[in-house]
Amino acid sequence: MQYPVDLHMHTVASTHAYSTLRDYVLQARQVGIKLLAITDHGPDMADAPHYWHFVNMRVWPRLVDGVGILRGIEANIKNISGEIDCSGPMMDAVDIIIAGFHEPVLPPQDKASNTAAMIAAMASGKVHIISHPGNPKYPVDIPAIAEAAAQYEVALELNNSSFTTSRVGSEPNCRAIVAAVKQAGGRLALGSDSHTAFTLGNFEHCIRIMNEVDFPQERVLNASPARLLSFLAQRTGKTIPEFAELIS
Ligand SMILES: [Zn+2]
Ligand SMILES: [Zn+2]
Repeated sequence: MQYPVDLHMHTVASTHAYSTLRDYVLQARQVGIKLLAITDHGPDMADAPHYWHFVNMRVWPRLVDGVGILRGIEANIKNISGEIDCSGPMMDAVDIIIAGFHEPVLPPQDKASNTAAMIAAMASGKVHIISHPGNPKYPVDIPAIAEAAAQYEVALELNNSSFTTSRVGSEPNCRAIVAAVKQAGGRLALGSDSHTAFTLGNFEHCIRIMNEVDFPQERVLNASPARLLSFLAQRTGKTIPEFAELIS
């Protein structure tokens, strides 16, 4: 498996998704994913779980059958100040925070406002990955977000579902974003954005776009659990001792 880490997926806790934690772990074993991040929608989204869902992720095992499980969230960028719907005790419960635009929470604005909101979210220091920045419904200044991402050590996501089932028309933006991240010296995070376990680890279109742009592999967070975990440790100042066996 070229990329044994998948950083974006939804469980039945977001009711427009259809798989459980156990389904994802079983599928991970089958396809060779060694580390996965469960990233259900932040509580401001229409069918997201209550915030207790996130706080109580502490009861999850860290490793099941050798597969590492990161406690994540796909938070919503709420306003032009870049605030997100992950705060207070939720911050302590999550290992990894993705944030992005979703229409029910923050409807698309003009390009300057979308760009300002996204950069403010990155500058807040709370966010590790920006989800689907190539969504054509939210035009952004691509060189500006790529430079901000490199500056604030935030990865921009290349979301495989943006080429298949979601956000039609994303491809030209995604290609331009990958090229801009390369130029800015930033990092990419691959996400299947699975809503069923069957697409876990499917990065087919991400790989095609990265090849077209000749994106440097050493800047793809998903290349190994060690690379992703060292990025998170650098960002959060914390390490997760149970994952030691994934790194060795
Ligand atoms: Zn999303
Ligand atoms: Zn998602």
